[in-house]
Parts: sequence; C-alpha cells; structure tokens
Amino acid sequence: MGRQVRVRVAPSPTGDPHLGTAYQALFNCAFARRRGGKFILRIEDTDRVRSSEESEVAILESLRWLGLSWDEGPDIGGPHGPYRQSERTEIYRQHVDRLLETGHAYRCFCTRERLEEIRTRQGADTGYDRHCRSISSKESDRRAAAGEPFVVRMKIPPEGQSLFQDLLRGEICKEWSLVDDQIILKSDGFPTYHLAVVVDDHLMGVTHVIRGEEWINSVPKHVKLYEYFGWELPVFCHLPLLRNRDKSKLSKRKNPTSINYYRQAGYLPEALLNYLGLMGWAMPTGEEKFTLEQMCQNLELEKISLGGPVFDVAKLRWLNGRYIREDYAPEALQEKLEEWALNQERIGKIVPLVQPRLETLADWGGLTTAFFADEVSLAAEDLKMKGKKPEELAAILQMLVWRLEQQRDFTAPALDALFREMSQKFGITLRDLTGPCFVALSGKPVWTPLFDSMEILGSDMVRMRLQRAIEVLGGISGKKRKELDKQYTALFGYRD
Ligand code: GLU
Repeated sequence: MGRQVRVRVAPSPTGDPHLGTAYQALFNCAFARRRGGKFILRIEDTDRVRSSEESEVAILESLRWLGLSWDEGPDIGGPHGPYRQSERTEIYRQHVDRLLETGHAYRCFCTRERLEEIRTRQGADTGYDRHCRSISSKESDRRAAAGEPFVVRMKIPPEGQSLFQDLLRGEICKEWSLVDDQIILKSDGFPTYHLAVVVDDHLMGVTHVIRGEEWINSVPKHVKLYEYFGWELPVFCHLPLLRNRDKSKLSKRKNPTSINYYRQAGYLPEALLNYLGLMGWAMPTGEEKFTLEQMCQNLELEKISLGGPVFDVAKLRWLNGRYIREDYAPEALQEKLEEWALNQERIGKIVPLVQPRLETLADWGGLTTAFFADEVSLAAEDLKMKGKKPEELAAILQMLVWRLEQQRDFTAPALDALFREMSQKFGITLRDLTGPCFVALSGKPVWTPLFDSMEILGSDMVRMRLQRAIEVLGGISGKKRKELDKQYTALFGYRD
C-alpha cells in the first residue's frame, strides 16, 4: 500500500473561470475518487495585481455548477489550510529563509535599471547574469538589514542536465544552462509561483501533480527545490493542452474559453463535463457519453493520449443534444428551461426593457430572441461605422473586447461610462460606437437599450458576439493585432 493519493487543482483567480481549469479539476477529481484519495482546491493568488476576489468566487461557482466537488479548499477548509496562497506568506518566508541559510538561494539587489541594461546588452533570452550570487552572506544580511530592496533567487546549477519523469511522457531532460536563477521571493515579500507551488504541494501532501502541459518547462526548477528542501518528489503528470479546431492552443479568439459562456449559452453542465472528459481520454468501451461517476470508475492516467485534444464546440453541441434528448423527460426539460431562461430574475430584468416597445404581447418574441440565443445571425454589410472601413471597425471592436475583458462591474451605468470613455479616446461619437454594437449583439440595428441589454446578456456572451462580429468583418491579422496591442496599451494601459 502506497501513500493515500492526494491531488489538487490550483487556479489563479485572475480572470474568467477557464475551460482549462475545469479540465484539470475534472481529471484530478476523477483520479482522486478512483483511488480513494483526496482532491484539494487551492487558490494561487500571489499575483496581487491580477488576482481578484470576484474571480475566485466565479471559479469556485463555475466548478460547482459543473458538478465537481473537493475535499479541502478555501471555502470548506481542511487539515492543511489555509488554502489561499495569500494567507500563507509567513510559511513561504520561512522556507525562503531556510534556502538562504543553506546557501541554495541568495538575495539579489539588482535594480530594475541594471536588469534592463543586461537585457539590452545580452538580448532578452539570456536571463539574469547572476551578478549578486557572489555577494557574501554577511554582506547580504547587512544590506537587507539596512533596508535595501531585494528579491530572492534560487541557485540553478550552471551546467549539466535536469532529468525528471512525467507519467505520460517518460523521462524528460533539460539543460541547466537554459534555466535562469529563478526569483522565488518578490520585493513585495510575496513568493513567486515556483516556490509557493512546491512548498504547498509538499505541505499539503500532494502525491500526484496533474496539471496543464504549459508548466512542464518549470519542472526542473521545482525538482531542484524539492531536492534543496530534502523532500520526496510527487508524480508529475502533465495533461495535454486543449486546442482549437485548427490545432492551435485553445484561445478565446477562436472558441469561448470561459465556463460562464457555456452556461449562459444553454449548455448542460453534465454535457460540458463529459466533453472535457473526452479530451485525451476515452472510456474503455469507447462510449462517448458518460457520467462523472463512470469516469471516476474507469480513469487510468496512463491511458491519456498526448495527441492534442481538440475542443470542438460543434461536437460539444452534439453531445449536449444527446443529453437533452436522452436524459430528460419533457417535464424535467421544462424545469431546466425555466431555470435557465424563464427564471424570475432574468425575466424581471427584461420586461421593463421591452415594455415601451410592445404593441401586442406577441411582439415579445421578436424583441427578446437575442437574450435567449447563443449566436445571432450577422451580415458584414450591417456592421458599419460612419467614416470607417470594415477593418478599422474590426480594430475598434477588438479594443472594445479587450477593455470589456478587464471590466469587472458589468452593470448598465458602468458600461455607459466605459463606452463614453472609449468613444472619447477613439475620437468618435457615442452613437458611432453603439451602432455596430447593437448589430453585433442582437443581429439588428434596433434593440432594447444597449447597456441594460448588455448587463442581461453578461460579459461572456457579449464578448463572444463581439468577437464573432470581428470575424464577420474579416478578422484581425497577427501583425495587425500586435499594432493594436500597442495602441491599446497607449490608450488604456496594460492588459493581460
Ligand atoms: N496557478 C497555476 C495556474 O493557474 C497552477 C499551476 C499548477 O497546477 O501547478 O495554472
């Protein structure tokens, strides 16, 4: 008998609840259940600028909506808490001190100017020149005590190779010369991901680290930290990245990636969860429709294929349809529809918007279709802005999407202010900007008041429809995106 299996999902609360998080949560949860282990939810919020409480709440809520549950987490506690990294800073500091004492880490006092200078001198990819590595510990203590700002870096061997095992890929080898002396403690006293993840996985007794492939390059640093601390390594299992239909990495430009969008667009949680289970894995029988329970009984991590699973919305729709047809009696479906579309809260918001526009009750249908639809039909010739070519309009809509992505308050008054600010910065009138948005969001040039309607549709649906309008207008090329990104930063500041 080995140790009890303990696994975790560790989302960073920095944006919309992402499909990738649900995917990792599902495989971790199913693996824990299969092995009679525990599944932990940990919030990795050490990035103080990008993390938000709203995002954390949204992530937990969307995972619950999908039907996933965890044994330990920030909401329910557990024996190894706290489960929110921002509440564990003292623990990290102690561990960093331990590395400083054992000589496995050092304080780096380099100023931003100096680091920039190295970058210009040596090129962006060469990394830190290890200038502060030779400062004696006495000198380092003295400078720190005198209040000089510093970060702490871990020591990476200058040469040789790092070897580690990935459950799905076998042995992986990386040259140490390609790895930087990673910062593990930032000047604000917060740890970086690399230190926090290792310390937490160890202290929380995590036996299997099952996460996205994008972290595989970080494993050598993590393995080194385990070694420095003298801790036993967990099993590493990096799940394949989800992909768009064209095989590129799943991106919100080509597929909605927020779980909330799927909820808003009328997908059933059990169908979405089932579909995520098909990403790189299949039931031994080959049956594509299965429950979480069935997945828990059958999952074997070794069977996950690395072929680059494609998240195909058309296929998800098909599977969702099967659930609707096969699993719901008409009464149960009616209940589902009432809960999704005809609930008091939603209808209560829509009625006052359409009332001034109704002549008969029957006008209700036409006026409200856009609220109950997923996509609306769009024609390029209806998407217009005075004095702008289609590609210029696409560029403006793209910046609007970026701006909306950062907008947490999605109420009508806040949207009103946002549109005013945007039109002013673009040097166009408010009407110029709202016109094409009416079309993009409702399929028609006239609709219920825009900002109230946007509030009802919700951020995810609004952005998906605007994104589609951009595609209908011809899309935005890679080169153009880069330019736009710069323009956006100049007008509105950095975006993620
Ligand atoms: N906080 C990381 C993320 O958001 C977690 C990576 C990991 O699972 O180690 O993806």
